Amino acid sequence: MRRLLVATLATVLTLAGTAIPAAAVPAPGGPGLGDEYFPDYGNGGYDVSHYDVRLRYYPDTDQLTGTTTILATAEGELSSFNLDFVLDVASVKVNNRPATFVRQGDHELVVTPARTVADGQAMTVVVQYSGVPSNKVAAGFTAWIRTPDGALAVGEPEEAWWWFPSNDHPSDKATFDVSVAVPDGVEVISNGVQPRNPVRETLGWTRWYWRSAKPQATYLAFIAIGQYDITRDVMPDGEPVINAYSELLPDDIDAAARSSVERTAEITEWLSGKFGPWPFTARGGLVAPPDTLTFALENQTRPTYSSRFFRGGSNTSVVVHENAHQYFGDSVSVAQWKEIWLNEGFATYSQWLWSEEQGEGTADEIFDFGYATRPAEFWTVKPGDPGAERVFDSAVYDRGAMTLHQLRRTVGDDDFFEILRTWVADHRYGDATTAEFIALAEKISGAQLDELFQTWLYTPSKPVLTSAFARSAGVPTAPRSWAKIQRTHELAHHRH
Ligand SMILES: [Zn+2]
Repeated sequence: MRRLLVATLATVLTLAGTAIPAAAVPAPGGPGLGDEYFPDYGNGGYDVSHYDVRLRYYPDTDQLTGTTTILATAEGELSSFNLDFVLDVASVKVNNRPATFVRQGDHELVVTPARTVADGQAMTVVVQYSGVPSNKVAAGFTAWIRTPDGALAVGEPEEAWWWFPSNDHPSDKATFDVSVAVPDGVEVISNGVQPRNPVRETLGWTRWYWRSAKPQATYLAFIAIGQYDITRDVMPDGEPVINAYSELLPDDIDAAARSSVERTAEITEWLSGKFGPWPFTARGGLVAPPDTLTFALENQTRPTYSSRFFRGGSNTSVVVHENAHQYFGDSVSVAQWKEIWLNEGFATYSQWLWSEEQGEGTADEIFDFGYATRPAEFWTVKPGDPGAERVFDSAVYDRGAMTLHQLRRTVGDDDFFEILRTWVADHRYGDATTAEFIALAEKISGAQLDELFQTWLYTPSKPVLTSAFARSAGVPTAPRSWAKIQRTHELAHHRH
């Protein structure tokens, strides 16, 4: 489910002036989707609608075996196509016929079907595989995290490669079924709902089932395997709220984590009051074992949190951040990784709004403190185009949020929140660009906003405040929420 980012072969042929219809020329799908920062992430030539990921995991050895079935539609006549994947592939079938396959680079698998796939034809791709994910290095690391009692597949932007073959780019979202067989007594948590209870599969093994019924980006799919205490509740309409806490958490951190994550239903209701109806069919959160995950990630419907966030006591700010991403990032996804401020700036600004609500500092105060105290280097990063190495720079978060605050000050609260609600509604389950956000903000406010966004998103220097926004001289005191909000991205999403 995606829109085309790149010129198709048909366009190229047309521009070249040839009279040969593109459909008559079978061609490889290609190793990338045209992402400016990560050109070989995702693949060309097809669009995925569903992944069925069926795994077996051996916690003692980190051995993973599995079969992933991909439902896709060809976008052009395909002689071959790529999948992003690093484990050892035993077989690939395309439309029930054995296909040949060869590895290319560190994460590309080139699949050649027995017969070319026609433009617009449905493809069922079945990949059988195995491997020890923690031993597989790609892009210079492994994103698979072994824990004392299992494993975590949680990361951004690279994560899927280590557990299922995919078209790994947020512009091709799909629904998911994930099932994992593990030794009896081990828990498996993933996104969405449990369509059936865990089932004893063979002697000593139990299979867990999870389903994501709304489109989901590949990097937002996750699994956590280990010893977890699972809590369950339902929203008034019956929607499940499922949280999970590592049983390895020390008591004090466990209590602080529960005091925060158990408030997910309340916090997501507060968010939907700001941004519109909750986009998904489940809610929840998962707190990882100590010293494993070093960040929090907005895995769809069920964010995952490092235990570090709760070392100093409860932290609802990070719960707000990750659940705001369910709107900004998960439901409305980036069309290109360079647009990452559309995720992080908005999730951070939601923490500012929560701070205001909790009486821990107004958005004005947070803006003013950051504006007065950020070091010179902070202002050299353009949040709207930070570069591939800086997609999770603090400027993407905080200057991104400052950009939104400038917009709010310029257009006023009524227009500002209407812009956000319309943005979420217009791009629900899709993907979007900054240019589209600017156009929407101008349409709703009737203001000319190019200069505001050019200054705040695309200028590598500290913006000068116009007199209307200039504050009193001197350094303001830090709002009470300041340190917590900083921690959200100091514990970065990314481990590069
Ligand atoms: Zn974030």
